[in-house]
Amino acid sequence: MLQTVLQYLDEKHICPHCQTELTLCHSPSIHVGDGLGWGSEYLFICLNNECSLFVKGWEHIEHQYGHVGSYRHMELPNSKESFSMMVGGYDAFTGSIVDVDDLRRQDVRYQELQKALQQLDECLAKKDIKPVLTVLLNDSARLDDRKRAVMLLVPFNDLNCVELLRNHIFKDEHLGYEVKRALDTILQKHFLKECPYCAELVKLRAVVCKHCQRELSS
Ligand SMILES: [Zn+2]
Ligand SMILES: [Zn+2]
Repeated sequence: MLQTVLQYLDEKHICPHCQTELTLCHSPSIHVGDGLGWGSEYLFICLNNECSLFVKGWEHIEHQYGHVGSYRHMELPNSKESFSMMVGGYDAFTGSIVDVDDLRRQDVRYQELQKALQQLDECLAKKDIKPVLTVLLNDSARLDDRKRAVMLLVPFNDLNCVELLRNHIFKDEHLGYEVKRALDTILQKHFLKECPYCAELVKLRAVVCKHCQRELSS
């Protein structure tokens, strides 16, 4: 689904009425006019309020159908097919504009994840913890891939990843628990523990936290 819409991002559609670039929108689930779908999840629509088709449309629809409305120029993705689509008002479709920047960000994250997954098996030998963190911190990664990544945390024994992972909220409770257990093991291996009050790292043997001065129970 992400891949389908991404290929449309490079398409450029220009409105023949006003020469404005059309905006990629989610199509309405039902075509108001004939009750049929558009056959595409996405449409390119001219949302320019000064577009001559839109400006002249009000009068035409009032005259022809006796109700309030106008037309927007619309084109199907990956196609030369175009339509004048009836709309009820100015903000029809403004709520269904595709968030292109967000899609591009999702795509970047997706590509990063794919790369990290490829590197996961060899990253320990290469002493590069980045793929492990990328997989762990990406909530759309598959659960078994993330579990594979958790298993690598203790062998890496890297204190620098503790804060980063502690601050991530894992939607999968079990995974979150596995991560916490791995981090606890890493701290222990460094003879450290987390102060339960201020969350700073202190020596395992400490009875008072050097950061917040509170007493620590063993
Ligand atoms: Zn236009
Ligand atoms: Zn403390």
